[in-house]
Parts: sequence; structure tokens; C-alpha cells
Amino acid sequence: MRQEFCAQGAALAAQGHARGGSGNISARLASGGFLISPSGYALGSLQPDDLSLCDDAGTHRSGPPPSKELPLHLALYRSRPKTGAIVHLHTPHATAWSMVDGIDPDNALPAVTPYAVMRLGAVALLPFAVPGDPVLGDWISGRALRHSAFLLANHGSVVAARTLKDAAFAAEELEETARLCLILRTIPHHGLTPNQVEAIETHYGDRFR
Ligand SMILES: [Zn+2]
Repeated sequence: MRQEFCAQGAALAAQGHARGGSGNISARLASGGFLISPSGYALGSLQPDDLSLCDDAGTHRSGPPPSKELPLHLALYRSRPKTGAIVHLHTPHATAWSMVDGIDPDNALPAVTPYAVMRLGAVALLPFAVPGDPVLGDWISGRALRHSAFLLANHGSVVAARTLKDAAFAAEELEETARLCLILRTIPHHGLTPNQVEAIETHYGDRFR
């Protein structure tokens, strides 16, 4: 898991999704607890011994101090028992979309492509909070039963998924969907219809989330 964790961090960084040392990831361990990227380390150059190990209560057990966004990760693990991994990024299109006026906080990204529906479901928008503020964990706890993907206003995105790979794919899907939505904003277009969204959800369910 430590090797896979570092490889996934490097892959996200190589794609430009973790610039300036931003972003953090975590992965639940079969033996209990979870690994989380440490505070102040770049995702692109993590080594297996750099990772922070926390128990299921979120208490730091070994390695360097965990990311300050630990409360947000812990809230998702506690609220969504099927969550195996979490990715938080500051990607530009997702962050830009979090600032657009008039977004529905319960369905913040229009359904424009089938993979966004499969991997993200309805995306929730959370209000602005100072990074690391435990209130982000409280807000996520209140909404994690219905949502696995979140936009944090003026900050970035958070996604939960079954595996580390699925969480990374979901984070990338969210960024690409936000990019599409920004492109389409000034162009007459048609998104997926409610019937099409329902057909996708019926066929694929929540197998990734
Ligand atoms: Zn952040």
C-alpha cells in the first residue's frame, strides 16, 4: 500500500494536479487505520517511509505529522464505510467552478458526461472555511451519506472512492467536468437528461464510490 500510495501521488503530481506542494491523499488499511500524506511534503516526491499512519480515531501513530486536512479525511472514513481512499486537490477548473454564482450546493456540477455521473454522483458544494479548520469535517460528516464528491468553495475538491486508483480517477473526472462546464458556460448546449442520468446510475450504481 505504501508503494502504491507514493506512485499515485507521483502520478497526480506528474499530471499537474498538485502544484506548489498542494493536495493530500489517504488510503484505508485492511489492518485498521489509514495512511495519509504528511504535512509539508509534495505529493510528487513521497517515499514509503514519509507517510503518516493514523488509527481509526484519527490519532497520529507513526511517521511525520499528518496533513492539516486530517479532519476532512477522518469524517469521510467514519461516514462512508465503503470508502477506501480519499484525494483532495487544488486543481484550477474545479476551484474556479466552486466560485461561480448560483451553484446548487446539492448538485454543484451539471451532469454532462456519463463518467462524471458514474464516478462522482451528485457533487456537493461546501462553503468556504480556512484550510485545516475542523468545521470542514463537520460539514462533510453531515453530507457524506448522500455525497462522495465535494467542492470546497475558493479552495478545491475532495473525493472518496473504493480504492486509491478510483479516488484519483474521480478527482481527475471532477477537474475535467469542471473544465467542460466552464467551456460550455457561454455556449448553447445540452447536458444529460434526468432519464439518461438515471439510466447510467441504474446500470453502474455506486460501484466506484
Ligand atoms: Zn486544500
